[in-house]
Amino acid sequence: MSALQRSEAIRRARLLDVRSYTVDLDLDRGEEVFGSTTVIRFGCAEPGADTFVQLEAAGFRRAELNGRPLDPGALAGHRLALDGLAAENELLVEAELPYSNTGEGLHRFTDPADGAGYVYATLGPDLAPRLFACFDQPDLKAPFTLTATAPADWTVVANGAPAEHRDGRWAFHPTEAISTYLVTVVAGPLHSVRAEHDGIPLALHARRSLAAELDREAPEIFEVTRDSLDRLHQLFDRRYPFGEYHQAFVPEFNWGAMENPGCVVYRDELLFRSAPTDADRELRAMIVCHEMAHMWFGDLVTMRWWDDLWLNESFAEMLGYRVAAESTRFTGAWTGFAARRKGWGYDADQRASTHPVAGNGTQSVAEAMGNFDGISYAKGASALRQLVAWLGDEAFFAGVNRYFERHAFGNAELADFLAALAETSGRDVRAWADAWLGTSGVDTLRLEVRVEGDTITAVEVVNDGTRPHRIHLGVHDLHGSGPRATVRRRADLPVELGPGARVEVPELAGAGRAALLVPNDGDLSWAKIRLDEDSWRTVTGSLSAIEDELTRAVLWEHARDLVRDGELPPAGYLDLVAAHLPAESAVAAVEAVLAFARTEAIGRYLTPGDRPAALALLGRTADALLTRPGAGHSLRLAALRGAVQSADAPADLERLRDWLAGTGLPEGLDLSPDLRWAALAVLAARGATDETAIAGELDRDRSDAAEQGAARARAALPEPAAKERAWAALFEAGTSNRLLAATADGFWRSGTEELTAEYVRRYFEAVPVGGRRGDRVAAVLGHSLFPRDRATDEVVAATEACLRRPEPTPALRRSLADELDDLRRTVRVRRLQAPGLQTPGR
Ligand SMILES: [Zn+2]
Repeated sequence: MSALQRSEAIRRARLLDVRSYTVDLDLDRGEEVFGSTTVIRFGCAEPGADTFVQLEAAGFRRAELNGRPLDPGALAGHRLALDGLAAENELLVEAELPYSNTGEGLHRFTDPADGAGYVYATLGPDLAPRLFACFDQPDLKAPFTLTATAPADWTVVANGAPAEHRDGRWAFHPTEAISTYLVTVVAGPLHSVRAEHDGIPLALHARRSLAAELDREAPEIFEVTRDSLDRLHQLFDRRYPFGEYHQAFVPEFNWGAMENPGCVVYRDELLFRSAPTDADRELRAMIVCHEMAHMWFGDLVTMRWWDDLWLNESFAEMLGYRVAAESTRFTGAWTGFAARRKGWGYDADQRASTHPVAGNGTQSVAEAMGNFDGISYAKGASALRQLVAWLGDEAFFAGVNRYFERHAFGNAELADFLAALAETSGRDVRAWADAWLGTSGVDTLRLEVRVEGDTITAVEVVNDGTRPHRIHLGVHDLHGSGPRATVRRRADLPVELGPGARVEVPELAGAGRAALLVPNDGDLSWAKIRLDEDSWRTVTGSLSAIEDELTRAVLWEHARDLVRDGELPPAGYLDLVAAHLPAESAVAAVEAVLAFARTEAIGRYLTPGDRPAALALLGRTADALLTRPGAGHSLRLAALRGAVQSADAPADLERLRDWLAGTGLPEGLDLSPDLRWAALAVLAARGATDETAIAGELDRDRSDAAEQGAARARAALPEPAAKERAWAALFEAGTSNRLLAATADGFWRSGTEELTAEYVRRYFEAVPVGGRRGDRVAAVLGHSLFPRDRATDEVVAATEACLRRPEPTPALRRSLADELDDLRRTVRVRRLQAPGLQTPGR
């Protein structure tokens, strides 16, 4: 196994000019392997030179370079040496490749609902050689022509538009020049829905057992697709460049979606087998817009190398939220960004593994996946919002369009984007980029307020950081008192802050005292905030009375940040949640707050002994939201999910059992399949259900989601035999990506101190080697299965020792290092709460 190094990619790109790929796949060879025959035509700048092609074959049949046979035995480390190149070359490679069950390469899935088989390819930084022989690096682009053989009842979809199909043979038109990581094929007895918009053929596909869900969701997905296409066609000079626009919803997908040109692939949970909230729908709309933005940012113009991943993801992230907010019915999308997306990035930006937005330092494709993180997405998008706030829309999109024009169907780097932007804007964008894209870490913007009586004498905003910020300072007043009080915006003052600056806000000198001042109100920047005392008092007393939902989202995130920094005890956070979440109306904020309260504030920062009382309080909070007069369906569904997940006391578990039996459910709600499985996992962890009940539920529900739900519940059972079976599934090859993740999710939920201590020890013995089964397995074992609630010095030391061992792959190392960071933070936060130690006021 030899991961491609950047230096090798640079050399190969100088040497080769790939003219075309022709790939023929045989998907009708049973469930283990498929046939892959590739013809690559390519030029070579230095005839006589040598290079290598990549392939991960199970059986290697034949290879010929310019008609000369190559020795199949020479394939080593997934590389086949090619020597004596001519000026123009033709390489033929015929091989048999294994299907994957980890969502990496050509994934094969058998639907337990009806036994039907499906395959789809998802490639990413280093997986294309699991589908076809190729020069796998983003800057060797070429047109790609696919043919395929498939079982008679299958439909095959790919990047190119379908050309013809007869008797199980499928042919597709050549694509434009695309990168190898963007190639896909999706096949099986698919259910499809077609439409057309603005001359572009549209299609949606899903497996047969989700036909009803696809038919139900198609109108909304098409509506968002059309809205997004129209908006991007307004913003960009160049129309959608890849012919037809197919969107396939596939099983066991590792990410949210993948932007393959002409054929976007989504996780099929986005078809909502279980009832969704509006926030779930909003998130899906954002993903649809995000993937479409990639057709330009990533697919038309592609980063030259993985260290410029931001050129793909930061732009798609920013446009995903922006287009959803301004052109679809999901006008509150930025609230979701503030409430539940940015935290992912803020956390990443405060770990040792943080990196600049641009130039993330990737030297080898083995490290590339680690940087698909909250920095490349959420922080990059925030940086671009700052750029737009500074330059204005017109100059920004003029630069974007020049960038597309100059690099269409090619590759680019940070400097190329800045050059285009500098030309069209006439501004010093490089200095801006140095500060915003070339540095790591989070700035803190804090307030210093002086008052005399009812009058403000001075307000200063202090930038304790290294970047310039263009923000708004929100000034809010409290009107009325008690439950009818509202906190209403008085003014929204633009503030420009240089690096390290202390800026006085002249508009407020001599003004009446305000109840609440919020730096970065409107959430235009990337920064932690610290409030003055009066403002924090208003937050604790009246957070839910603030009229603006985006302001509330910024403040919920602020409270989360205070907990993580040890400035607000978890109990104080839970009090804030109990006081204000029942009146919150932004569903995305409700979901984010309930999740953080349960898994982090309680599950991580509180010690086990303090958890039952905290879970009881959180359960009462969810109940209060559930029974709030006038609360809409989405809010109540979010609350129901919270109530299920936080059930802990015997009476609450009894209620869960009633709900599962169909009695006593809150008016107008029922337990959808996913919630039934969530409830069973909670009951299992408390020893309040058993294998008979789990098997009975599997009889009712034959889906793959049910199999995952059963795996989670079984792993959660507090019985030695159940733990041992789960452990075997986790550390033996063969378990699919989703069953692995579900088992990991259930594992630590239960067990006596003695039982779990034993597995903590075994974890650190087994994970360095167990995590060598690919990036996905490494992510599950190194992240999902990490014993994160065991925040002791011993576990910190064991993780450090594990990282000193030679076995962990770069992907596993990154997961473990990030968990270690979080564990140290947990130890710090817990120490601050220990009896006898003073805890800060907020
Ligand atoms: Zn993306």
